[in-house]
Amino acid sequence: MPARVLNGNVIRDEIYAELAGEISALAAAGIRPGLAAVLVGDNPASKIYVKSKIAACEKLGLASIHVTPPATITTSELLAIIEDLNRRDDVDGILVQLPLPPQVDARKILEAVDPAKDVDGFHPLNVGRLVAGRPTLVPCTPAGVMELLRRSSIPLEGANAAVLGRSDIVGKPMALLLMHANVTVTVCHSKTRDLPETVRRAEIVIAAMGRPAMITPDYIRPGATVIDVGINRVTDSAQAEKFFAHFPERLAEFRAKGTALVGDVHPDVAGVAGVAGAFTPVPGGVGPLTIAMLMSNTVKAARLRRASRVPAAAAVRH
Ligand code: NDP
Repeated sequence: MPARVLNGNVIRDEIYAELAGEISALAAAGIRPGLAAVLVGDNPASKIYVKSKIAACEKLGLASIHVTPPATITTSELLAIIEDLNRRDDVDGILVQLPLPPQVDARKILEAVDPAKDVDGFHPLNVGRLVAGRPTLVPCTPAGVMELLRRSSIPLEGANAAVLGRSDIVGKPMALLLMHANVTVTVCHSKTRDLPETVRRAEIVIAAMGRPAMITPDYIRPGATVIDVGINRVTDSAQAEKFFAHFPERLAEFRAKGTALVGDVHPDVAGVAGVAGAFTPVPGGVGPLTIAMLMSNTVKAARLRRASRVPAAAAVRH
């Protein structure tokens, strides 16, 4: 049986439809959730990410505040910006686009964000709440993967999962969320011995290593659900020819643009998709859900922080 494609765009639209109801209930109480995006300097990839986040705000009718200090900013100047956003009542979520320039103390900046407005879920207080299994603002990518698994009816309780990657942004929170959903989790990293053998035991594989097309069919247990978080930009034409050998359209697109996106899972249709039970494509899998969860966290932060001003009927979810 061919593997089921888990389409992130469809699930994102479902989430947006639900959020629209919540946003209009908040509007009835005079509240328009607002997201502030702080983009330091002009890193082209960061600019693209922030642009798509602002576009999502506009689509849903959220307010977006765009702060763009120069790459030469100091830690104390950036702290002053964060403190100003912390004080503003119209700002419900604060997003500091990473990476920050080397002269800025990134940890100090992330810890300065008001935990109630920390829509990326990076503040130590929110990390602690997540570890303890208490309600909190959860990092967007792993939260999006959980939505994808649940809304695709992938059985979780008692399942074995392998999380490939242990970063603070993806791997660690992913493992915690799965564990809280009663999944048995193995966290793998660059020092894991015999990675293919370990991953082959898993019914759910979450690949978040940043290693283009590394996961091939020999890593996959037949019928497993394979979630590809990796977003890797390929510019080498020999690599692109290899990855997209069975995708003439993607190869043509690569030749025209000189660049293409590939996940951590090899895209070959005759490969992982031939063994897995279900998988997410790249692009169009986890990526759209990361932004959807950022929107969801912003609405949630608005509702929680301004709760006393919202009639009971307006608080619908979470
Ligand atoms: P990091 O570089 O911070 O972490 C990578 C992790 O993968 C590390 O824990 C590292 O191990 C592990 N790793 C690297 N190589 C191997 C290997 N050969 N075998 C086993 N483990 C390995 O990356 P992020 O977590 O920030 O991101 C991971 C990927 O997800 C990237 O491609 C990124 O672009 C993508 N991403 C996608 C998002 C989306 O919206 N879809 C959002 C965020 C990220 P160790 O700890 O030992 O070094």
